[in-house]
Amino acid sequence: MSSRQSLNNPVRSRLQIISSRLRNFLGEPQRKRKLPDPLELLIATVLSQNTNDLNSHKAFTNLKKGYPDFTILAHVNPRRIEPLIKVGGIANKKSKTIVRLVKGVVSGFGKFDRSSLRKIKRVELIERLCSLHGVGFKTAACVSLFALGDDDAFPVDTHVHRILNRLGVVSEKTPDKTYLAVRDKIPPSGGYELHINLIRYGRRICTALKPKCYECVLFDICRWKDKDGQVREKPVQKGDRNADFMILESI
Ligand code: SF4
Repeated sequence: MSSRQSLNNPVRSRLQIISSRLRNFLGEPQRKRKLPDPLELLIATVLSQNTNDLNSHKAFTNLKKGYPDFTILAHVNPRRIEPLIKVGGIANKKSKTIVRLVKGVVSGFGKFDRSSLRKIKRVELIERLCSLHGVGFKTAACVSLFALGDDDAFPVDTHVHRILNRLGVVSEKTPDKTYLAVRDKIPPSGGYELHINLIRYGRRICTALKPKCYECVLFDICRWKDKDGQVREKPVQKGDRNADFMILESI
């Protein structure tokens, strides 16, 4: 795509503006030196469902202590791993999902290491990952972004979906539809930065309930009909460490 076409695309140019303003407000997020292992990341995403990052991290750590090589989980009775991941909730369901998922990885991919997966084109990789039990666009794109270090991947979670729809960048009903609408319109090599900063912003400012529109750096370009610029609470502290903790970067 030419730079002219790029500038003429309203979604693309708005995402560029949003990314730049969030960088000024939150800074440029830095990757950890060591990328997470792809299989560990898949399992971490299962464990992160319906719980907070700290509890899912505990569940992940327990599971890793019990089964240092996760490929073994393809041959384990799900009941044996339930106590290890109980702290993260719905262990009965998650244990079955994990075992089925690892079975699918072992039979469908053979090698599931970073260098093998990097040889597969992103679109094909996302498609193949989505054929695994319990894996959707968000998780598949997380593998690409976090485990493979692909800065053009752009996972859409509930925070990203909510903010982009409030801003009016897209008008979509589900995170998957938002993902399909924006995945090829993010700033070049800007997927990591925009993804991380939107999540941070969604935790601190554009929260699901009572967003702090009065201190929003995107207020003037936000098209949400309910935005409210009246000051309600004390300003948010920029250095809130809990708001920055991310399970997928901490495994
Ligand atoms: S103005 Fe309010 S709703 Fe809009 S992006 Fe900012 S915090 Fe979110």
